[in-house]
Amino acid sequence: MRPGSPSAYWDGLDIRLGFAPQMMNGQPCLHALDLKKTLEPLLKGLSLSCLKTNPTIVIDPGHGGQDSGAKSVLGSRYEKEFTLDWARRLGSLLATNGWQVLLTRTSDLDLSLTNRIAFAEAHKADAFLSLHFNSSAPNDQQAGLETYCLTPTGMPSTITRGYNDDPALAFPNNAFDAQNLRFALQVHRALLQVNGRLDRGVRRARYLGVLRGQNRPAILIEGGYLSNPREARRIADPAYRQKLAEAVAKALE
Ligand SMILES: [Zn+2]
Repeated sequence: MRPGSPSAYWDGLDIRLGFAPQMMNGQPCLHALDLKKTLEPLLKGLSLSCLKTNPTIVIDPGHGGQDSGAKSVLGSRYEKEFTLDWARRLGSLLATNGWQVLLTRTSDLDLSLTNRIAFAEAHKADAFLSLHFNSSAPNDQQAGLETYCLTPTGMPSTITRGYNDDPALAFPNNAFDAQNLRFALQVHRALLQVNGRLDRGVRRARYLGVLRGQNRPAILIEGGYLSNPREARRIADPAYRQKLAEAVAKALE
């Protein structure tokens, strides 16, 4: 990390601090919340500690039904189709590895964020993983992987997207700040190995409604940009989506 920048690198991974480190009296200083909520979880190790054998994971394919999500720059194909296929592929791999796997939707269905949370709650899920693809249209240059977890209380978010980001807010999912970050890094690291190391960082946000109310470690992956022709072409390839699924499954072994 360096003074004046919220960007930091951990073992080759791009992570975002809540506060830029400052020089004070000639000493580099890190905010106490970054020490507690970023550095400590990292130093304690990267593994998502599972509470029991055969843990239950809820995989959430983003969007569905009327809500198509992002449109591919290559034509009339949408995020909702690709997230569902990625989720299905990942689900069967995780089931083979001993996870109890549930998908919030298994067809082209409209599902509210509240219902996605209620589903995980009803099935007492041990982990929650929401799958998305990104868009920066009409900009077709932006590309790469972003992995999100909920911002710890007291910290500003990496990204707010117009949401009134009040650092004082505390959500149920904040009970899992440390596990969220470890979960995010574990999956992010594995996915970078298949996406050509296009790293847009592990980020923290409060505006992602599907994460806030979760009573379990929860992350959201933006697996690439459908607005970038090169990435859109890869995402449209079933063999590439299989690689994305294999990477996440390996990260959760
Ligand atoms: Zn999405």
